[in-house]
Amino acid sequence: MRYDVIVIGAGPAGLSAAIYAARGGLKVAVFEKAMIGGQITVTEDVENYPGFEHAITGFDLTDTMKRQAQRFGAEFIEAEVTSLGLEGKCKIIGTSDNEYRTKAIIYCSGASPRRLNVPGEERLTGRGVSYCATCDGALYRGKTVAVIGGGDSAIEEGMFLTRFAEKVYVIHRRHELRAQYIIQQRAFKNHKMEFVWDTVVQEIKGEAKVSEIELYNRKTDKINFLTVDGVFIYVGILPNTTLLESRLNLDSGGFVLTDEYMHTNVPGIFAAGDVRSKVLRQVVTATSDGAIAAWSAEKWIEDNQEYFGAEK
Ligand code: NAP
Repeated sequence: MRYDVIVIGAGPAGLSAAIYAARGGLKVAVFEKAMIGGQITVTEDVENYPGFEHAITGFDLTDTMKRQAQRFGAEFIEAEVTSLGLEGKCKIIGTSDNEYRTKAIIYCSGASPRRLNVPGEERLTGRGVSYCATCDGALYRGKTVAVIGGGDSAIEEGMFLTRFAEKVYVIHRRHELRAQYIIQQRAFKNHKMEFVWDTVVQEIKGEAKVSEIELYNRKTDKINFLTVDGVFIYVGILPNTTLLESRLNLDSGGFVLTDEYMHTNVPGIFAAGDVRSKVLRQVVTATSDGAIAAWSAEKWIEDNQEYFGAEK
């Protein structure tokens, strides 16, 4: 099968790229191995995406984007892209049962939660250790949980957890949160949240499920134990670059380097959204990246029309 543009990843960046490229008259396929919508689908309230006076769920927002892309003719293929080959300027991507040729690729593979890498974390994942408050929060009605981290995710998801949990401890390694000011202010007013500063988790303990965490205070040098029913880990994100990391230039954190036109170092491969090296990771910047990447892909195809026209 031949396409003009293949979008890898159907989060906000990929969906926006698909809308722009398909509306521009290009033949577009979007590949997604997991959930259409990406990481934002598990966010209950998206309240800073322009155009919505009141919060919208991440699921509703991205579901609308998907239908918008389909209206312009974008095809959605539920499959993991496992290989990429280059044949001149043409790209060949492979899934477990098919090969697809395309002129341009827009790489929007996003990012995944970073692990804390402490003893007990892996063993107790799904048994009290979670990376998704929206998915698991309701299991902790009336219980005590700890949220690890001090960024936007930790604080927003911690506040979400106060809907169910009796008590939410926020364990942060410094004395100052990284989260945006408005999010911090709300959290400080929430009487169910308690902040444990300058502290890191050394171990997550429990037999069949989480029962306590071992904490180390970096200022006082003291070790403490906190009894909890659940541990929600939000210590940042890691880019999903496995497919293309050997071909693309990456920054020191492993995020894909692009210019402001979303060009990567490989002609005809563009990157957009959380996988890209950038300062602000928001739905609005992801959709903006996607639109620019689609525009750049269209221009690149146009500039190479003679080459692609001669292809059989
Ligand atoms: P983040 O901003 O990178 O924050 C990660 C937090 O985890 C930081 O507070 C960091 O501490 C802490 N941390 C990192 N490694 C740790 C370790 N080994 N042990 C203990 N703590 C550790 O990640 P995020 O909160 O997941 O957010 C990711 C991106 O999405 C950000 O760009 C964020 O702005 C965006 N986002 C935005 C919204 C929104 O606008 N509503 C919501 C969610 C996410 P330090 O502060 O000491 O480094």
